[in-house]
This record gives sequence, structure tokens and C-alpha cells, in this order.
Amino acid sequence: MADRMLQFTTMPQHQPDKRDTAARVADFDEIYRDFAVPLAEAQSSRCSQCGVPFCSIHCPLNNNIPDWLKLTAEGRLDEAYEVSAATNNFPEICGRICPQDRLCEGNCVIERGFESVTIGAVERFITDHAFTQGWVKPVAPRQELSQSIGVVGAGPGGLAAAEELRRRGYQVHVYDRHDRVGGLMMYGIPGFKLEKDIVLRRWRLLEQGGIVFHLNTEVGTDVTFAELRARHDAVLLATGVYQARDIGGPGSGLPGIVASLDFLIASNRKGLGDEVPGFDSGLLDAAGKHVVVIGGGDTAMDCVRTSIRQGAASVSCLYRRDRANMPGSFREVTNAEEEGVRFVWLSAPEAFLGDNHVNAVRAVHMRLGLPDASGRQSVEVVDGSHFNLQADLVIKALGFDPEPLPQLWGQEALAVTRWGTLKVNHTSFETSLPGVFAAGDIVRGASLVVWAIRDGRDAAARIHAYLQPSARTSAMLAAAE
Ligand code: FAD
Ligand code: SF4
Ligand code: SF4
Repeated sequence: MADRMLQFTTMPQHQPDKRDTAARVADFDEIYRDFAVPLAEAQSSRCSQCGVPFCSIHCPLNNNIPDWLKLTAEGRLDEAYEVSAATNNFPEICGRICPQDRLCEGNCVIERGFESVTIGAVERFITDHAFTQGWVKPVAPRQELSQSIGVVGAGPGGLAAAEELRRRGYQVHVYDRHDRVGGLMMYGIPGFKLEKDIVLRRWRLLEQGGIVFHLNTEVGTDVTFAELRARHDAVLLATGVYQARDIGGPGSGLPGIVASLDFLIASNRKGLGDEVPGFDSGLLDAAGKHVVVIGGGDTAMDCVRTSIRQGAASVSCLYRRDRANMPGSFREVTNAEEEGVRFVWLSAPEAFLGDNHVNAVRAVHMRLGLPDASGRQSVEVVDGSHFNLQADLVIKALGFDPEPLPQLWGQEALAVTRWGTLKVNHTSFETSLPGVFAAGDIVRGASLVVWAIRDGRDAAARIHAYLQPSARTSAMLAAAE
């Protein structure tokens, strides 16, 4: 057991070991190994216990990071778990998939000169350890309330809100069009970043806590939005963003050009043992193919690395800016490079070639120009720089927009922003419809799991304040702080 903190001057950073590249591309298991207890305790002791902890400030959940690091360093792992779980419904998930280099670890004060404390890995360790010790229990409300709340969407935003509302004693019903709980944590994010058992064990726990799941239930089709409002005292919309941004140009309708989420959902379902016609027919299977992925975000990284694991003949990633300006996490780019992905920076597609099926992408090189109004460098085509990339499968990973819920649900009074996200009062989380709240990507646009959890927790507090007038004053005071 480490007996004191501030060990960073003598103890180097040790991130969890990665599995050997050859082994990890042969399956869909997570690539990082678990921390053993002594290593987690030792790495925690590197923290300098800052009076103003920038790590916590830059964590969307404002986790009490120095506190749980100190408790871990002292071997008080049950207490570390309690502190960690107090601010985060799924710490083991955030520890795995948060882009820590941009959030907590990127802002750790010892980052410059000594490399940050391994915050994400310790957070993951604490809760994984708590699960093995049997410390993680289903939520147990102190009293049962008669009011019921309908949550639409079983992604991290909906689940975090559901757990917090159940904790307060409400009857919570979660509706999802999928057959499993987890949203993008189940069907978007691949197993090599987040193994599905991790999500499944949370699902079991939430059910044990009394949350009722209505799966294979699409709001707008299987149940109308009006019915849902009539059934419940309040409704939370946490439906995420799913409309894939498309790409135009000659040949863009050719067979063999697919949307990223279709590709990833098929792969995740296959891994879960489902029958997936699109995969079994070969359309969504990269095996033996020359794959070109278009985009530079985390979804693109997931597509290239999934293609490698499916046995693609080659995998290239086409992105119109350079490495330094890509939106994806640097850690993920490094992982992809190690696994054999070829990045074609500063390149954009112009056309897709082929007769009955795509066989190549015609691309052009770009250069970075002057910064635009947002401060981001514009991109310009380099004249005469065309080239062809062989491609049997092209995956479009250009981001997502919200589905038009007001039109889909016949609810013209449900106000949206100019980006199509739901308009909410940012203090109350209430939409333009009374008693209807919203949280997660459907409010923020495509974002992160940790932000969806934060929004879900905050929305739960506001719904409680809406339903229990006595709670309103304290919620308002908290918001004013
Ligand atoms: P979602 O997770 O999208 O959940 C919404 C749920 O609502 C879904 O289950 C959906 O089926 C359901 N739903 C939608 N409409 C209806 C309806 N009409 N009726 C019933 N149910 C409905 N974030 C990270 O932090 N780290 C990562 O590494 C990361 N990787 C990602 C990789 C990919 C490929 C993608 C696409 C996203 C990734 N993200 C990552 C982003 C993250 O997954 C999302 O920000 C987060 O899941 C949003 O949570 P949410 O609860 O708002 O929505
Ligand atoms: Fe870091 Fe994410 Fe954990 Fe916050 S939730 S401490 S940002 S890994
Ligand atoms: Fe510890 Fe780094 Fe946070 Fe400071 S910023 S409290 S050193 S983890």
C-alpha cells in the first residue's frame, strides 16, 4: 500500500498495458488489460492532491477525483468506490471510453513534465473491483412514490436519469426501440473499447432496482407520444441522434457504400450472437475487402478498427484535414495506426467509381488555408492532385443529426433549435411541452457518454423538482449556486 501521495516525482506514469497487436486484432475484446490492485494503488499515489483540482473541473461530472485517488492509494477501495459512484452512474464505462486526453487527464497539473495521473484507468479499476467484491448493489429507494415517469431511450442519458429517479422512489419505465439496453454503448461503440458484458451487468442491476424496461418499443410507431404523456406524470426524451450525414457526388449511390452506424450495429449484433441479414449477405462485412472510411472522428476510428478485425484486405481512412486537426481522440488514432490502418490525411472524396458496385474512390488532396470566423483553418483543394483508392466497401462516417421528432411524432409544438436538436430550458431541462423533459445527444447534438450521464442526472433532479414542489426550492437554489 502506498503510504503517501505526491509520488509523481519518482514514480513514472503507467497506463494499463495493451494487448499485443496481433492478438487484439484477432478478436473484439478490449485492448487494455486490467490494473492489478498494487498497480492501481501505486498509480493513484502519484496524485499531488491539488487544492484546485483541474482534473475535476474538466470532468463533465465534476468527479471527486483527488478524493478517490487518495482512498485508492491508501487501500480503502470500498470507500473509493462509494465516492466514485456518488457522482457517476457508470464510472467503469467512463473509465474505459471517455477521451481522457481531452478531459480529466489532459488537464491534470502534473501532465506537463511528469505525465498525468492515470485517472481513467483508476476509475475503471475501482468499480470493476467493486463488482468483483459484490459491493455494487441495485438502487434501493427509501420510499415508494406513486408517480411514474416515462423515459424514452435506454442510452446513457436515459439510464442515468432512470436510476436517479428510481433512487428517489418514482415508478420508472424506460422505452427503447432496440431489443437491448445501452443505446450506443451497446450497438454503436465496438467491444474492443467497451465489452458488452459491462453494459449487460448494468442492465441487470437497473432491472433489479425496479426499473421497468419496455424494449422493442418505438415511440411514434408502437406507442404514440400522446399515449406516453397520458400514461406518465412526466416524460424524459433521451433519444440520441441517428440521422447519418450523407455524402454526395458522382457514384455516391453505388452499392457497397454504407453508413457507419449500419456497419457498426451489424458488427456488434454479430458479436452478441444475433442473426444479421445485412452482415451474412456480405454487404456489411469487411472480410477480404479493400475498405475506405471517410471521416476523422471517433466513429470513423471505430469503423476502421472494426474492419481490421473483420479481416479486411486493406483499410484506409480519408480525412480532409491533418492529424493535428482531426476531431477523434489521439489515443484512438494511435491504436488504429498500430493495428494497420492507413491514414490518408488532407484528402477528400470527389466521386465513387464502379459500374454495378463501388470499386474505387476518386479523391483529391487538400491543403489547410486561413482560419475562418470560428478560428478553424479552412481547407482548399490542391488543383490537379487527384488520385484513386481501391475500394470494395466505403463507409461514410461524417457525423449525425437528430431525427425530426416533431414531424415523426405529429408534435409541431415540440420546439427544436436550428440544428434540429430539442430546445430545452437549460435550467429546468423542460422542453416547450409541459412535463416533457429532454437530455443527452438529442439536446446537445452528437457528444459523449459522460455528458449524457451528466445531463441525465441533472434532468432527473429537475423532474423531481417539477413533481415534488417542495424539492423545487432546493433545486432552484442549487441551480443558482
Ligand atoms: P443514445 O446512446 O444514442 O441512446 C438513445 C436511445 O434512444 C437508443 O437506444 C435508441 O434506440 C433510443 N431511441 C431513439 N428513438 C427512439 C424512439 N422513437 N423510441 C424508442 N427508443 C428510441 N462517446 C464517448 O464518450 N466515448 C466513445 O468512445 C464514444 N464512441 C462512440 C462511437 C460511435 C460509433 C458513436 C456513434 C458514438 C460514440 N460516442 C462515444 C458518443 C456516445 O455514444 C453518445 O454521445 C451517447 O451514447 C449519447 O447518449 P444518449 O443517451 O443521449 O443517446
Ligand atoms: Fe475522466 Fe471521464 Fe472519469 Fe470524468 S468521467 S474522471 S472525464 S474518465
Ligand atoms: Fe491529482 Fe492531477 Fe487532479 Fe491534481 S489535477 S488532483 S495531480 S489528478
